[in-house]
Amino acid sequence: MIDGLLQIIAPHHCCGCGKIGTLLCQNCKYDIISEPFVLCIACGTALSGKSGICAGCTVPYSRAWCVGQRQEVLERLIDSYKFSNARSAFKSLAGLFDEYLPTMPANVVVVPIPTVNAHIRQRGYDHMALIARCFAKQRKLKIDTSLLSRITTTRQRDAGRRVRTAQAKVAFACNKQLDPDTIYLLLDDVVTTGATLKYATKTLKGNGAQTVWVTSISRQTLD
Ligand SMILES: [Zn+2]
Ligand SMILES: [Zn+2]
Repeated sequence: MIDGLLQIIAPHHCCGCGKIGTLLCQNCKYDIISEPFVLCIACGTALSGKSGICAGCTVPYSRAWCVGQRQEVLERLIDSYKFSNARSAFKSLAGLFDEYLPTMPANVVVVPIPTVNAHIRQRGYDHMALIARCFAKQRKLKIDTSLLSRITTTRQRDAGRRVRTAQAKVAFACNKQLDPDTIYLLLDDVVTTGATLKYATKTLKGNGAQTVWVTSISRQTLD
């Protein structure tokens, strides 16, 4: 409701073309969707097939999708959602997943990458949980939130590869036994080193999951 009120006072503009009334208009959404992402989600190497993972990468998940590079429209949309309180962007971001991902089997369960508690307090919302709930509803899939963050505060935004990997290794916990017949689909917003998806997958598998797929809205190359 607050978002609705704010929209009357300061209406949203499309992150792509500036059109008033939405954070991502249909045209700009299709511009993003129509350009397939053809890099390995883990290392950024150009792919020949559509598996999302290159032959050189050993990862614990078996399928991967990424909507696009973290640049231009996608970068502005994610940044306004995460850092400028544009809460309603979760609908646009869930919509991108919905348009981009193939039809999923009925035994897929959506798992949001958990957010550090301090960041949830700061934003006033759990940004990945909002996206995951919206996407799961659109696809009529179940959601599982038993993957938890063990980290209290971090500044991952500025961290280098080594720090990120060390953080990710101990970042997750899972509070229940998972079902070996379920496919767990991890949802993330930005992949950089791939350490988050790797260790989140390992945590799910350590708790009984057999099959984990991953998807991210964007991928960013570390400088
Ligand atoms: Zn637009
Ligand atoms: Zn790779």
